[in-house]
Amino acid sequence: MIKKFKNIKGGVTLPHKKGTSEIPTEKFPIPKLVEIPMQQHIGACCEVLVNKGDYVYVGQVLGDTEKFVSAPIHSSVSGKVTQIKDITLYNGAKSVSIVIETDGNQNLLPGISKPDIATKEKFLKAVRSSGLTGLGGAGFPAHIKLDTKEKIPEALIVNAVECEPYITCDYRAIIEEGNEIVKGVKLILEKLSIPKAYIALEDNKPEAFNLLKELVKQDARIEVVMLATKYPQGAEKMLIYALTGREVPMNGLPIDIGVVVMNVTSVLALFKYCETGIPLVSRRLTVDGSGVMEKGNYHVVFGTYIKDIFEYCQGDYQKTLKVLCGGPMMGITAESYESPMIKQNNAFLFMTQEDLDFIEETACIRCGRCIDACPMGLMPLTLNKYALAKMTEELQKYNIMNCIECGSCSYVCPAKRHLVQSFRLGKELLKKAKVKNG
Ligand code: SF4
Ligand code: SF4
Repeated sequence: MIKKFKNIKGGVTLPHKKGTSEIPTEKFPIPKLVEIPMQQHIGACCEVLVNKGDYVYVGQVLGDTEKFVSAPIHSSVSGKVTQIKDITLYNGAKSVSIVIETDGNQNLLPGISKPDIATKEKFLKAVRSSGLTGLGGAGFPAHIKLDTKEKIPEALIVNAVECEPYITCDYRAIIEEGNEIVKGVKLILEKLSIPKAYIALEDNKPEAFNLLKELVKQDARIEVVMLATKYPQGAEKMLIYALTGREVPMNGLPIDIGVVVMNVTSVLALFKYCETGIPLVSRRLTVDGSGVMEKGNYHVVFGTYIKDIFEYCQGDYQKTLKVLCGGPMMGITAESYESPMIKQNNAFLFMTQEDLDFIEETACIRCGRCIDACPMGLMPLTLNKYALAKMTEELQKYNIMNCIECGSCSYVCPAKRHLVQSFRLGKELLKKAKVKNG
């Protein structure tokens, strides 16, 4: 399957800024209050299954829905539900959230035990019960991704590329829990009858590469592949292309071309659930940026407020100008320190003037660099023009929905055009226009 392409079309070379990569992960203290939104994934919002005043345990289901694309949401703490309210998440999504006053005991839900994964159906059911959604940031429910129906994938691709600057949580997961990751890969291969797995990393992580190579050397089904470092190689479609030379069709899925892709931290979380029965209630999070003193990776329970993380990491409110949820290329600016951390958050970057490029946007000089950088073969300058002019038919014609919002075009643009922001706006306009026109 591997075609040795090893290089995506377009893309850019970025400074790595992975200053937290050699700092061991620290357990973040359980906060006094957590707030757990019912929308933490792509798909339907969960319905609240607890009431104000209830005592809840770690691992207890707080919300779920019958709707197909969704995943249950569990309590990350033990304590008392003090409020059920509406919230706007860091990414602008509206949700109901459950506020819990923690008792600090982290009492596990009585009766939690290893799930029955004897058959493929039981395994997929267990994946759903774990609450696992794509931990690389996409937030797609894992049980849907792994349910390939009658198709047997040719290969599982484990995405350990982590190509955004600053973010090192996947790298730390490999260094600290590589053995469990490899066991997770084997488990998925067995349960889904997949014959081959490729764990892909970029060549700026030689230690992780060597460790994984050592761990898989007895298993011919698993290959560790080192790719040249290039952004946005960690984007699913890019990674598939880099490894196989195959392109996922427009509106298609990786399984359409014979592969399933999972983020490396998702594989780890799945393995841990199958070993313990404790659902997804916390994750490794990179905290970085010049706004905080104590940069590093932390195991944080979901629902922890950004402000608690910022203050624990000795953040400076005066200096910090921007809180990025995710990396500098694809991350979203949080509106408020009061937002809680959710499953999709792999990093919080507290950016100061030092970190940010404040050059003002100027007129496009039609240099064409954005076109060369676009891994999706789009015309960013043209899309920018039509997005700003709100011309939805033209946006459709120039395939704006194919934009993966990687930011490579913005990065190379000498005029500092705010291209990605305009594409997000353009996509929203196009979606609304489609709804309006039926
Ligand atoms: S890179 Fe910037 S200045 Fe150059 S064509 Fe694209 S939008 Fe215009
Ligand atoms: S147009 Fe979209 S996909 Fe292309 S480089 Fe810009 S952000 Fe990335």
